[in-house]
Amino acid sequence: YLRVNASKAVIVCTGGYEANEQMRDKYLSHANRFRALSDNQGEGLQMGLWVGADIDPAPHASNIHYNYLPSDPFGSGLPWLRVNKEGQRLGNEDIAYSFLPFLDIYSEEAACYQIFDADYDKYYPKMVDHGAGIFRSVPSPQFIADAVSLQTTEDTSTWSDLDKTWQYYLEMGSMVKANTLEELASQLGIAYEPLQKTIERYNELYDSGCDVDFGKKPERMHAIRKAPFFGIRREACVLGTLNGLVINTHMQVLDRDRKVIPGLYAAGNASGGRFFGGIAQAMVAPATTISRALVWGYLAALDICVDR
Ligand SMILES: Cc1cc2nc3c(=O)[nH]c(=O)nc-3n(C[C@H](O)[C@H](O)[C@H](O)COP(=O)(O)OP(=O)(O)OC[C@H]3O[C@@H](n4cnc5c(N)ncnc54)[C@H](O)[C@@H]3O)c2cc1C
Repeated sequence: YLRVNASKAVIVCTGGYEANEQMRDKYLSHANRFRALSDNQGEGLQMGLWVGADIDPAPHASNIHYNYLPSDPFGSGLPWLRVNKEGQRLGNEDIAYSFLPFLDIYSEEAACYQIFDADYDKYYPKMVDHGAGIFRSVPSPQFIADAVSLQTTEDTSTWSDLDKTWQYYLEMGSMVKANTLEELASQLGIAYEPLQKTIERYNELYDSGCDVDFGKKPERMHAIRKAPFFGIRREACVLGTLNGLVINTHMQVLDRDRKVIPGLYAAGNASGGRFFGGIAQAMVAPATTISRALVWGYLAALDICVDR
């Protein structure tokens, strides 16, 4: 144990409770099939509760992302066909990023597989600028190559098309490529026969220009006929939980009667009041959680320095 005697106040800034199964069951049960990407156990929140603090009401919000880079190929955020391990289509792949992971939770494993064919270059431009939150915008192939340069010592300056970049991800193993759909299904561990039926149906919907099954816009549809075929496994993770101890505008922690608990402050993901409700909320604007951690912590420290 490290004991710190704080002379003026304590600021709880121990992050959220993403790795604490019991707390997730209680406050974030809708997302409890997604694994945590941090070790935070919510001990700061628990200590707050022990001294009478109030905590935001459930359901809590969280920061949910698909597998984090470098495992997640750029371009995988596009609305390609998504199926589960049983080979079934999951829904309209073009819905907002914050909602997409929730299509996966009803499958045997909370993961999905995106599938597209050799004509991806033809469909890629039609998916540009379809908005709906971060990671849904489609960067240019050169932008992607520049981003990959942060992860590799290879010279990416000549990677002006997607082929080169995706070759890199194929070598890394985060994408797979096969000459037949059967081989692709086997590499991804997907049941082949239902997958084949799903793809036949998807091609039929593409040809008809109307996705009567799930209502995806025609321009986001694509055929899957031309070898080689590509597949990407995607698994959503909880990066952080976003609700915590109830605070006032000075970052002072409050009890259930909204009275200040003297000497106790909270900041960042240990603090509450900024997000509400269950869906992943920090997805529409970048840095909404990092900025909170920085600014709330700074404001709490300023307040502590003020002689009241
Ligand atoms: C891979 C990844 C990518 C992310 N990308 C973004 C992004 O692009 N934009 C964005 O806004 N947010 C992003 N986030 C979320 C963002 O990192 C967090 O919301 C932010 O770090 C929260 O800050 P915090 O200080 O509240 O908590 P944390 O950064 O989690 O810090 C809490 C600290 O407290 C320590 N701690 C916990 N319990 C105890 C204890 N009992 N005693 C002592 N120490 C303890 C922990 O070890 C940790 O160091 C990302 C998160 C991850 C995991």
